[in-house]
Amino acid sequence: MNELRKKEIWFITGSQHLYGPDVLRQVEADSAEIVGSLNSSMMVSQKIVFRPVLTTPESIRETCLEANSTGICIGLIVWMHTFSPAKMWINGLRILDKPFLHFHTQLNRDIPWNSIDMDFMNLNQSAHGDREFGFIAARMRLGRKVVVGHYRDNEAVKRIAVWIRAAAAYDDALNMKIARFGDNMRDVAVTEGNKVSAQIKMGYSVYGYGMGDLVKSVNEVPEEDIRRLLEEYSSEYRMTREVASSESLREAARIEAGMESFLLDGGFRAFTTTFEDLHGLKQLPGIAVQRLMARGYGFGAEGDWKTAALVRSVKIMADGMKGGTSFMEDYTYHFDPAGMRVLGAHMLEVCPTIAEDKPQVEVHQLSIGGKEDPARLVFKTAPGKGINATVIDLGNRFRMIVNDVRVVKCPDMPLLPVASVLWEPEPCLRTGAAAWILAGGAHHTAFSTAVDAEYLEDFAGMQDIEFIRIDEKCELRSLKNELRWNEVYYHFSNGIR
Ligand code: MN
Repeated sequence: MNELRKKEIWFITGSQHLYGPDVLRQVEADSAEIVGSLNSSMMVSQKIVFRPVLTTPESIRETCLEANSTGICIGLIVWMHTFSPAKMWINGLRILDKPFLHFHTQLNRDIPWNSIDMDFMNLNQSAHGDREFGFIAARMRLGRKVVVGHYRDNEAVKRIAVWIRAAAAYDDALNMKIARFGDNMRDVAVTEGNKVSAQIKMGYSVYGYGMGDLVKSVNEVPEEDIRRLLEEYSSEYRMTREVASSESLREAARIEAGMESFLLDGGFRAFTTTFEDLHGLKQLPGIAVQRLMARGYGFGAEGDWKTAALVRSVKIMADGMKGGTSFMEDYTYHFDPAGMRVLGAHMLEVCPTIAEDKPQVEVHQLSIGGKEDPARLVFKTAPGKGINATVIDLGNRFRMIVNDVRVVKCPDMPLLPVASVLWEPEPCLRTGAAAWILAGGAHHTAFSTAVDAEYLEDFAGMQDIEFIRIDEKCELRSLKNELRWNEVYYHFSNGIR
């Protein structure tokens, strides 16, 4: 994730020559002030770079070409301080292939009632200048985020900060490699999908490997690596002496080291496993997957590469933020009318970044798969807000579905030896689960207590995929209509692609 910190957002100010050099100098100074202020915000994760004020079609096009070709720029924030006739922007915008955010702001927060004159009016024109720009973006059908507010307004800055983190994840996904150990779980539909379409739309590529490739890497792990990992386990987690000295835990450490070296060697940022294909591995990777997720890798079980990619992307968005992000599965329900809940868990693979307390290492038999007893981290998640997100392949398009959830306190479950989360979906389980099922959402998700739905909405916007949000206002009749209307929209907008 260190590479990510070097990436920049460019701040682009539009104007025109009509106003003369004095006004343009002032425009430049004002833009620099806004950039400085945004950069001083703790919420903003990437450096925002001030770029010279643009006043001609040629300079606009040059800047867009430069933004396209430099890997360091991951998005543009545009602002029309004055009027900037928007036909000047067409040639630049038609080639721009980086996401952009339109910041509709101005330097002064308040109108200076006693001193306002025509000079002030000529300089501070974004209220109409930004509308001219908005028209051409709408006319060209360009996806973008529009943020309105004074540049020192925390609400506006937060919405920009969210978009910047989404841009970082979008950039990361464009050249993400996902390793797939084994294929899809046999007969499962939702974890399938068109990998060529996914690469065209979302950038990432999926590489399949036979288990023998991974097993070779696991078998080559030096003894000292296993010893080092076992020491880490005992300092980071709780466990009984029996578990600490078990052959199962040694084997789990060997799998972790072998998997990590395989992923590092291949430059992979996400991976999948499947319990149906573990040929040559002694146990289903549990603690290994959990700890690799905690280090930033995306993960999907049962060959679920779409969820693996999404988990990685959410981890990029959430980098350094409070809370955590994990692969998740809706496992079983609590249908008590006094509080209907979902118990989320998986066979083993839940990321310890969402743990409330120090996780406990346990070794137990797995009831499916027929392998040796795997080691896993067991923990619960603290109450608070969260989201579940999924991406599905509908044949003619990808759809992202996000459900806001409230994580609630989970009673003790002394006989359940896996990490788990208890939540109530918004607006309630009855409506939330019905909406999710009507929309075709998977049983696997990227679960996060770090980011909210706005991050995913911005991210889906950049990827230009369908976005459905199930929040506290969700109403099934409207949702069904939204799904129907989207069918028509995507049918037409996709054309012959
Ligand atoms: Mn599963």
